Amino acid sequence: MKTIYLDNAATTQVRKEVLSVMKPYFSEIYGNPSEPHSMGRKAWIRMEKAREEIADFLHSKPDEIVFTSSATESINLFLKGLIESIKVQEKSTRPHIITSSVEHKAVINTCLYLSNKKLAEVSFLPVNRDGQISLLDIERAITKETVIISIMYVNNEVGTIQPIDKVGRLVKKVNKKRSVPIYFHTDATQAIGHLDCNVNRLGVDSLSFSGHKIYAPKGIGALYVRSNTPLVKQLYGGFQENGLRAGTENVAYIIGLAKAIGMITKTSGSDTNKISKLKKRLIKNVSKVVGVKLLGNPKTSAPHIISFLVKGVEGESLVLYLSERGIYASSGSACSSSTLEPSHVLTAMGIIREDVHGSIRFSLGRNNSDKDIDYLSCVFPEVVEDLRNMAPKK
Ligand code: PLP
Repeated sequence: MKTIYLDNAATTQVRKEVLSVMKPYFSEIYGNPSEPHSMGRKAWIRMEKAREEIADFLHSKPDEIVFTSSATESINLFLKGLIESIKVQEKSTRPHIITSSVEHKAVINTCLYLSNKKLAEVSFLPVNRDGQISLLDIERAITKETVIISIMYVNNEVGTIQPIDKVGRLVKKVNKKRSVPIYFHTDATQAIGHLDCNVNRLGVDSLSFSGHKIYAPKGIGALYVRSNTPLVKQLYGGFQENGLRAGTENVAYIIGLAKAIGMITKTSGSDTNKISKLKKRLIKNVSKVVGVKLLGNPKTSAPHIISFLVKGVEGESLVLYLSERGIYASSGSACSSSTLEPSHVLTAMGIIREDVHGSIRFSLGRNNSDKDIDYLSCVFPEVVEDLRNMAPKK
C-alpha cells in the first residue's frame, strides 16, 4: 500500500543530511561539552558553531539562544521564567499576560497554570472567523501590569498567520511610554521553515521553536531570548545554557537542529513554492466534495496547513479510514479522547460544537508530490461517502 504522509505539522521525517551530521556525535565525539579534555572541547566547539548558525538564521546573537528539549519546554521557560523574574522585583502587583484563545496548549496551559497559581492575570483574546487576532484588541487589553504579550506566528490547526511584525511595532510604540517594558514572545513552531523568522524584523523579544517540525529529531527545541530580558531558570542543576537550562546538552541533536535550519536557508524558496502549489491543488480537489468546507483564509495562512470541516462525519473516524488507505492526516477536532473536548481553536473561530467534530487537517511537507494529492483526491470522497452511509440516519 502507498504511504502518503500528510501530517507534517504533527512531525516530520528526519532528513538524511541531518542524520548524517549527527551520527559522529553518538559514537565518536561523544564527550560531555562541559569537560575540558579534547573530546569534550570538540563537542563544545561544534555545539557552539551550531548555536552561531541558528543565531544567524534568526538574526540574533549566539548567547541569545537557549537549547531545550522542545517548543513546549521553550514556551514554559519563557512564560514562567519571565513571570517569576517580575514577581521577584515587584511583589505587590500581579503581572498581566496577553495571549490569544487559539494558541497551542503549550501556551494556553502554561498561562492557565500561572493564573491558577495566582502568579499572573491572563487575557485570552478572541479571534475572527479566519482565526486572526485584532491589533486593536491587543492595544485595548494592555494595562500597566502587562508584562508579556505572547502570540503564535502560525496556528497549528488551521494555519492562520498572525501579524507578528505589526504586534512587534505596537509593542515597541507602547514600550516608549512605559518604565516596565512589555516583552513580546511568539511561538514560531509552525512558522519556522515557511516564514521569515528574523527576530529584529518581527520585533520579538523571544521566539520558541522545535526541531521535529523541520526535519530534525524529536527532543530538541530552542528559545531565542533577546539580551537583557529578565528570565529565571526553570530547571535547577549545572550552569549549562548560560545558567538558563541545567542538564548536559544534547550535542548530537543540537547539531542536527542547526543542520535542519541550514537546509531551510538552502531550500526554503523552492520547498515553499512547491508546497504552496500543492496546497492550491489540494484545496481545489478536496473542496469539490459536497459538504466539505475549507477553514480559515488560504490567502493569510501558512503554505503547509490546510483544514476542512466535513459535514456528517467524525474527524477521528476520517483519520482512521484514511489511514487504512495509507493516507496519514490529523483530526483537527483533537478530542482528548477521554473528555471529547472540542478543539479550542475551532470553537474560538465560531465553529458550532456540532461541526467542530468533523474537522480534518492535512499538512504538507517537502516530500509530498502532485501524485500524493491526486491519490488523496481519489480516496477522500469515497471514504467520506462510506462514513456518511454508516452514520445513523437522523
Ligand atoms: N506550538 C505549536 C504551534 C505547535 O504546533 C506545537 C506542536 O505541535 C508546539 C508548540 C509544541 O511543540 P513540541 O512538540 O516541540 O513541544
